[in-house]
Amino acid sequence: MTDEIRDLIDRLSGEHGLAEPEYAALVAGMDDEASARLGELAVAVRRAIYGDAVFTRGLIEISNICKNDCLYCGIRRSNANARRYRLTAEEILACADEGHALGFRTFVLQGGEDGFFTDEALCGIVSALKRRHEDCAVTLSMGERSRESYERLHDAGADRYLLRHETADPAHYASLHPKAMSFENRMRCLWDLREIGYQVGCGFMVGSPGQTPATLARDLKFIETFKPDMCGIGPFIPHHDTPFRDRPAGTLEQTLALLSIIRLIHPPVLLPATTTLGTIHPMGRELGILAGANVVMPNLSPVSVRRQYELYDNKICTGEESAQCRHCLDARMRRIGYRLVVDRGDILKKNAF
Ligand code: SAM
Repeated sequence: MTDEIRDLIDRLSGEHGLAEPEYAALVAGMDDEASARLGELAVAVRRAIYGDAVFTRGLIEISNICKNDCLYCGIRRSNANARRYRLTAEEILACADEGHALGFRTFVLQGGEDGFFTDEALCGIVSALKRRHEDCAVTLSMGERSRESYERLHDAGADRYLLRHETADPAHYASLHPKAMSFENRMRCLWDLREIGYQVGCGFMVGSPGQTPATLARDLKFIETFKPDMCGIGPFIPHHDTPFRDRPAGTLEQTLALLSIIRLIHPPVLLPATTTLGTIHPMGRELGILAGANVVMPNLSPVSVRRQYELYDNKICTGEESAQCRHCLDARMRRIGYRLVVDRGDILKKNAF
């Protein structure tokens, strides 16, 4: 680690922010020693806020039907090889019932932008979920919608919304998405969600095609400014039926360093160690926690459809029942000195453990 990088890490840790060119220099100058130092600092601040608790969210993948055509995504509209499915309201509620019995207190409903899920349809599911499980938070991750739609869903009981910004660089955004999608609309959605009163999650893929230290610096500056309640980052992994099939996957090392940096930028942020991290390395999720993450999101979708929600190749945990996933993660966290908690897992601003 050079003196310049050591200095940037110290300043980031003390001031929770850097200038955009400094973020770019930090990303470009990363090595094992710098990454280890970032990890130590990130774990210390996370521990001061959340102790050894790791929050869980039960992920229910409600549909892989999507009107969008994002160049990186395996469920993009033009992938004619994708076998499409949509869960019924009853199936979604049954997944949540099973999850509740297993100790999940947050359910994340995620899916492609499937026109079947009108406001009326989705509000009905959200309010039924909240009625059945009053002690739970409901998170939606259903893509870009109108402000009015977000308001109706919030009124129906949705607490949180995950919408990765994907990249904070407009030209990079345009290279990852078809013309019909716009950076401005993605950002409009995030700010609307915040104003309406959701706990909001943004995020991006690490190593997406065309990403550079300069585009990452924009992502980090955006996170520093927006201060999301959650931030989902995980490596890009190519899918064989997309235009990016031959692009290299994002790396474990860079993802871990960025997790630590994001923890230092915004100490209370809810930061998942993602399934993609577990896909590129057998200990990826554990290493994510040890770099500063504090959330895991095991799958509660019916095993019969799990393989079909194929955003990228070689996704893990597609053959296991929900209970197996929960117990496996529980054991993985205990082995590294952490514990999964039965809790909604809201963002905490001070030491509550
Ligand atoms: N449609 C919703 C949306 O746009 O936010 C939610 C579903 S979308 C498939 C969820 C996330 O998966 C995206 O935000 C993207 O970052 C991630 N993703 C898609 N393809 C991926 C890939 N090949 N590798 C890693 N992550 C991917």
